[in-house]
Amino acid sequence: MKISVVIPVFNEEESINELYKQLLKALSFCKNYEIIFIDDGSYDDSLKNIVSLADKNKKIKVIQFFRNYGKSAALSEGFRYCSGDYVITLDADLQDDPSEIKNLISEIEKGYDLVSGWKKDRKDPLSKKIPSKFFNIVTRLSTGVLIHDFNCGLKAYKKSVVKSIDIYGGRHRYIPALAGQKKFKVSELIVNHRQRLYGETKYGGSRFFHGFFDLISILFLSKYTQSPLYFFGKIGFFTFAVGLIIELYVLYLKYFLNESFSQHIALLIFGVLILIIGIQFFSIGLIGEMIANSNHSKQLRIKKFINE
Ligand code: UDP
Ligand code: MG
Repeated sequence: MKISVVIPVFNEEESINELYKQLLKALSFCKNYEIIFIDDGSYDDSLKNIVSLADKNKKIKVIQFFRNYGKSAALSEGFRYCSGDYVITLDADLQDDPSEIKNLISEIEKGYDLVSGWKKDRKDPLSKKIPSKFFNIVTRLSTGVLIHDFNCGLKAYKKSVVKSIDIYGGRHRYIPALAGQKKFKVSELIVNHRQRLYGETKYGGSRFFHGFFDLISILFLSKYTQSPLYFFGKIGFFTFAVGLIIELYVLYLKYFLNESFSQHIALLIFGVLILIIGIQFFSIGLIGEMIANSNHSKQLRIKKFINE
């Protein structure tokens, strides 16, 4: 059994060496492992520190991004590259405790596909904790994945999960939701969380809006990825029908009540506008169908590693 530890790093130079020490200790129960650091365009000495560790220890692999692409991109690259049967993700800032790795693996071995850490006693400022509580509740209710903490850096996965979920943009916040949508078995485990000792958080106020848009996109894509026309077609049909009724009403006024078009010019134009918007929605749906068609195999969870 091989474990891959995937760690996204963006300007965490002070934490790297201490993290490495803690990881070595935490992984002593397992002989076969790899630690993959993804340097997400750091401009401090993070990369230098990681490379000097990799020179000493062949189990360390390093991926360097030429610029900062974000945590999702870093995790995604780590997931593509890793070869372990079980995969652990962990933040590089020492807020996640590597000694929880063993507990997460034991939980996975109970038969789950993904075990997400739950920072029950979270050591972050209130300005972070309150929005995060809100998002977790909304995500829990809207996705039906019943865990408390979707965006914990510390998670354990079976290989099949990381090889079949697609994360980009800000979707690392919703990985358990994405896995749940693909019918993977998701569970959670309370983990120790620590204060940030060095550096600073990479996510400010924008996380609120970004988090919200990402959630909408995840919910939309899960429901309509295979058939975008169902979504846009419905809106298009309704809009077109309203436009048609308005235009028929204007014709009725003209030919049955002998009122001229010029008396109802605003209504006439409004009706045409609504008709065109309806057609636009249909067209967007059809283009969506074309995109869905060309992405067909990517969107589905089509693979299963039988001998995992
Ligand atoms: N991170 C990254 N790229 C980014 C932002 C963050 O790789 O663009 C890494 C960061 O170095 C850390 C983890 O993602 O290892 C979590 O980031 P952070 O601690 O800033 O998030 P918070 O704990 O404040 O939610
Ligand atoms: Mg952090």
